Amino acid sequence: MAGPLLLTSAPLRRRVFFALWPDHTVAAALHETARGLWSACGGRLMRRDTLHLTLAFLGEVPNVALDRLSRAAARIEGAPFVLELDRVGSWHGQRIVWLAPQEAPAALSALAGDLDAELEAEGFALEARPFSPHVTLLRNACSAPPATGPAAVRWPVSAFALLESVRGVGVATYRVLGSWPLAGK
Ligand code: ATP
Ligand code: MG
Repeated sequence: MAGPLLLTSAPLRRRVFFALWPDHTVAAALHETARGLWSACGGRLMRRDTLHLTLAFLGEVPNVALDRLSRAAARIEGAPFVLELDRVGSWHGQRIVWLAPQEAPAALSALAGDLDAELEAEGFALEARPFSPHVTLLRNACSAPPATGPAAVRWPVSAFALLESVRGVGVATYRVLGSWPLAGK
């Protein structure tokens, strides 16, 4: 062997995304809704500690880029808002079952738009696909969600987070890397 192996337990790159991350109460309400839909639609129930609403997906970034992500997030001057998740729907046939706001509050669209702009200013290339706020509740569902949806989940939002997606065998778990308040103006 020519020299020492360079081993490190920390990955050099991380799969990351910005999201709204619910507190325990909202996560419990989302989970209850998911369980109700699961009994009707089957499939794979998302775990309570993974429920989230993605704002901006970065994918794999080198660790050295995390500072730039923090800088972009710190420049956001959003206001707190309440999200009424009152619409159930599905994509990909009916395999992905989600909960979404019937109408996205202006403050949510502004948050996602401002975040995209700040990330681009820091040199991150984002997908051009339009923002479609939703919380995925079931995957591989067997049937479409019932026409009569569950009661709305009310989510008071006063912060957003940077999450790392850690992909284990089969399922992803998420780790909060940072959180920034929406303190309002
Ligand atoms: P898995 O891919 O392992 O089944 P996952 O989709 O929950 O699990 P990730 O792929 O790491 O985990 O995605 C994290 C979040 O980002 C999810 O909300 C996912 O829907 C969203 N996401 C993933 N890829 C994209 C993409 N290309 N554009 C927008 N959002 C994305
Ligand atoms: Mg994925």
